[in-house]
Amino acid sequence: MTKKVSIVIPVYNEAQNIDFFAKEILAVSQNLNYTFEFIFIDDGSQDDTLEKIQNLSVQHPQILYLQLSRNFGHQNALKAGYDTATGDCIISMDGDMQHPPALIALMLQKWESGFDIVTTQRTYPKNAGFVKKSSSDIFYKLLNSLSDTRIEKGSSDFRLIDKSVAKTLSNLTENGIFMRGLINWLGFKSTTIAFNANERHAGVSKYPLKKMLKFAIEGITAFSIKPLYMAVYLGFTFSTLAILYIPIVIYEHYHGQDVAGWATVVVAIVFFGGLQLIILGIIGIYIGKLFIQSKQRPNYIVRSSNIK
Ligand code: UDP
Ligand code: MG
Repeated sequence: MTKKVSIVIPVYNEAQNIDFFAKEILAVSQNLNYTFEFIFIDDGSQDDTLEKIQNLSVQHPQILYLQLSRNFGHQNALKAGYDTATGDCIISMDGDMQHPPALIALMLQKWESGFDIVTTQRTYPKNAGFVKKSSSDIFYKLLNSLSDTRIEKGSSDFRLIDKSVAKTLSNLTENGIFMRGLINWLGFKSTTIAFNANERHAGVSKYPLKKMLKFAIEGITAFSIKPLYMAVYLGFTFSTLAILYIPIVIYEHYHGQDVAGWATVVVAIVFFGGLQLIILGIIGIYIGKLFIQSKQRPNYIVRSSNIK
């Protein structure tokens, strides 16, 4: 019996890309000796992404979809796909052609040779936006210095996982998913292949700077409590400095120069005020995560689907 491969594609307002993507992916799959299912997760699109998928699914019964009840974000949409897929292995990819379908053959080869997880490492096209490239570099440097789970720079959500990995993943109920980190945390036998990210086929990135920043903070705080320790160390450092300052204050007092120090006082107040706000913020983020998790809400809600 031929093995079954699930392709999971989270899409958000990608109406201009669906037809092209489907054509390419169907062409690639026809040359491979596997049965395929394609699961599009419509992550609350406001354009006709869903209609496009529905039209395709009429001609191609292997094209399936889940429509989420609203925009839950790429990572949650991905989780929805992993939870739903029934293949012997699952490949996740973006629907904007930035993840080349041609790489699928190589991923499957690696899987057949015994790897449970095949991740990909992206190198950006030369003309990729400077902001995007450097922000991604800074993000991975910061993430790795703050987190206990190593995540290679240029990691992407274009990956293959075995069905056993997907099953383990489905049993995790954490909110605030950061799939790249979570997959690394799971362990299993994995390998990485490099690929050149294409330009988007059409449309614009759904990750503006603000969303990217949120994604970065999510990535760090979902995997590490090191920032909390950092707060404590910072506190210690400054307390020590303050104690060392006491003799100077006493000296100045007895030499009648204590009024002259007001500038130092103002600077210190402003500086420590800022520091306290940052540290409170860090603690707040973690408490917020506890709050969200304590409600035990699902990561996504399905509104409709053509999966029986
Ligand atoms: N996406 C999604 N939900 C979102 C944002 C993005 O499902 O809230 C999808 C999007 O349609 C695409 C993939 O996730 O298929 C990657 O997003 P995008 O291409 O905008 O990110 P970039 O490649 O610019 O990092
Ligand atoms: Mg993209």
